[in-house]
Amino acid sequence: MKDLETILRHTIAAQGPIPVSDFMAECLLHPRFGYYATRDPLGAAGDFTTAPEISQMFGELLGLCLAQSWLDQGAPAPFTLAELGPGRGTLMADILRATRAVPGFLDAAQLHLVEASAALQDVQARTLAGHDIRWKTSTDDLPEEPLFLIANEFFDALPIGQFVRQGTGWAERRIGLSDTGLAFGLAPPQPLPLLAHRLDDTKDGDLVEICPAAPTIAEIIGARIETHGGVALIIDYGDWHSQGDTFQALRNHEPANPLENPGECDLTAHVDFEVLANATPSAHTRLTPQGVFLERLGITARAQALAAKLAGDALDAHIAAHRRLTHPAEMGTLFKVLGLYPSTATPPPGLEP
Ligand code: SAH
Repeated sequence: MKDLETILRHTIAAQGPIPVSDFMAECLLHPRFGYYATRDPLGAAGDFTTAPEISQMFGELLGLCLAQSWLDQGAPAPFTLAELGPGRGTLMADILRATRAVPGFLDAAQLHLVEASAALQDVQARTLAGHDIRWKTSTDDLPEEPLFLIANEFFDALPIGQFVRQGTGWAERRIGLSDTGLAFGLAPPQPLPLLAHRLDDTKDGDLVEICPAAPTIAEIIGARIETHGGVALIIDYGDWHSQGDTFQALRNHEPANPLENPGECDLTAHVDFEVLANATPSAHTRLTPQGVFLERLGITARAQALAAKLAGDALDAHIAAHRRLTHPAEMGTLFKVLGLYPSTATPPPGLEP
């Protein structure tokens, strides 16, 4: 039996079945055995890959989008250039390289990375060697100044609770012990004010997910942006409204049983963007599919420019990467982009209504 599974079994034996959110938090961020705490999970040798690991074009275009927004808002200096959950630091490295071409942008930028995993902080320090970086473990610790922020596949890693509708109450899905391992069960139903608005669009037996940390973080970001100016680009899989069970595990790029091998799999859930948008005092864009966003920012022209320097396998890989980021059958539609910006400013490029 794995060490984290032993710990979880003891906790459940002592306290009773635990909420999915507690299970997810322990599996991902347990200081000794948590998934992110013990490894670099990204890339071909890891369990999953992400847009910045697929192609440099993703970070370049996001960087130029942030820089254009910075210019549109009068080039405030100094400002915070922040990323939530930077993984290997690849996205930030591409942003920093692309925005060297924008006069004044990098001189005014103070880099802040919000990263919970010490192991990944080390990887980020290596990727971004030579840059002056401050690490934070909480969004709340970002400075009170203009904020230009990106979060790619960050919100999907935050723990979610799951609730099954029973009459006008909600039964929380919990994880308990079975003869063979860990098993899902349901707590007795209770009224839940947080889900009162979902009584209109759900029926008996429907499952709704709640990510308690997501609106808190969105509120902090939105407040900084409304007060000091800035933009946040939030990119993830999910939709405007959450409904249904999206709790999933990935191991070696394959779907896995989330209750097996705790701490060894990536656990995620789809993002409910409506909750993020409603939590902020600042304006928000329409939810835009990643493929549409990248096309509007000029990914095809950039892909052609890069392709001109490539041949053979490298060219094939580059063409496949372009397709993977943008095509509706790949990441183009599943992934969405939400922009937050001050109610007095114009929306960021690519996210105009
Ligand atoms: N954005 C990167 C990596 C996504 S993986 C990319 O696109 O490649 C999720 C990242 O969020 C990892 O860096 C993980 O360690 C970090 N993370 C997960 N939960 C976190 C939390 N609660 N606080 C801060 N960082 C967190």
